[in-house]
Amino acid sequence: MRGEADTIFAVASGAGRAAVAVLRLSGPHAGAVLDALAGRRPVPRLAALRPLRDAEGGVLDRALVLWFPAPASYTGEDSAELHLHGGRAVVQGVAAALVAAGARPAEPGEFTRRAFLNGRMDLLAAEAVADLVEAETEAQRKQALAQLGGALGDIYRGWAARLTRMLAWQEALIDFPDEDLPDSVVAEGARDLARLTAEIAAHLDDGHRGEKLRDGLVFAIAGPPNAGKSTLINALAERDVAIVSPLAGTTRDVLEVRVVLGGVPVTLLDTAGLREASDPIEQEGVRRARARAAMADLVIEVRGAAADEAGSAEAALPGSARRLVVQNKADLVENRPADVLWVSALTGDGLPALRQRLVDAAHELAGLAGPPALTRARHRAALTAALARLQQAAQAALPELRGEDLRAALYEMGRMTGQVGAEAVLDAVFGQFCIGK
Ligand code: GDP
Repeated sequence: MRGEADTIFAVASGAGRAAVAVLRLSGPHAGAVLDALAGRRPVPRLAALRPLRDAEGGVLDRALVLWFPAPASYTGEDSAELHLHGGRAVVQGVAAALVAAGARPAEPGEFTRRAFLNGRMDLLAAEAVADLVEAETEAQRKQALAQLGGALGDIYRGWAARLTRMLAWQEALIDFPDEDLPDSVVAEGARDLARLTAEIAAHLDDGHRGEKLRDGLVFAIAGPPNAGKSTLINALAERDVAIVSPLAGTTRDVLEVRVVLGGVPVTLLDTAGLREASDPIEQEGVRRARARAAMADLVIEVRGAAADEAGSAEAALPGSARRLVVQNKADLVENRPADVLWVSALTGDGLPALRQRLVDAAHELAGLAGPPALTRARHRAALTAALARLQQAAQAALPELRGEDLRAALYEMGRMTGQVGAEAVLDAVFGQFCIGK
């Protein structure tokens, strides 16, 4: 990352042709750079129409200009926004004029990194900004927005504060061993430690729901050839994505479709008929299907009307995923037991009920109803390390060793929120951003 003293700019709006392009400018010389292009500086935070000029005085565009003096800006620095006409030539011309005036193009995540460094947000909020930019579904948006609003940060900061208090008592015990601190202090400390350890363990033991919502769930559709898996996936995806054929074993490969179920992104995997195939290509399809299905969050087991299935293929799917058994081809069966989820992928009968079951499963797996969930592997790693030190602290034979463990746990928490800044952590976090954020 180059100098924080630089004034940076980037196109903050999407790539490609658009009516308007938003160019963002931030840094100690943002005001001077803005003056060079736009002349008179607008009233802070009020949009003004200004001709933008290059160094020779030629007009590049007439743009809406906004001026955000420090510290009340996204980055906490002097900042400006230029709302240009979206043409490439306009953007390029203005970018060249900004460089001529002393600014340089921003690196990915550099605006948000500056916001973090200037104390405008903690690391969790910065990550939430990245998630919000990436959010594809409503549930993802809500999770990112809650994290941006501090839902996770509040929990983690609360833990860190409690840990700090415990550490202070521990230090007192070390420094004044002879002072008669009441026994209750020691007992209270042990109770606090046990409570915090349990809370963190429960937070970690959440079935990865927050991470799953970020990355999306995987539902595998399995079952014997000809059970109607391809037809069902088409019906669920509401477009023709899988080849449907009356010949057994047509779906040779694993086929993926991304759908949104109740705001949660879900990849539906159509697996090849899970039978013992003789054809080597088909064998490979079967092997892959098993591997993917083994990693799925939910296996939708489709059964057809037994009469038209080519052999029974109940080679059990490995993995510990939940299962939902769906009996397809309801239209071919007269007497249908009520305790089975009957559908007809062909006629659409029973599909709304199936869809609802899938939405319920998606909500449960992504834990939308529960308390704020851990959203990243980075947090999981830090909290796992903190938890290990807390468990160790409970076993510690000497107050000094316990203090050491508590301090290490606190350090891990600080790494998570960014209070303990390690350059490598910052690079990893901000490297995932797009340019302009
Ligand atoms: P897959 O091998 O499990 O993917 O099965 P397909 O989706 O290719 O379907 C096999 C055959 O069953 C095709 O001829 C489908 O039209 C038919 N089929 C699928 N679903 C139904 C259904 O609900 N009712 C009836 N009658 N036929 C179906």
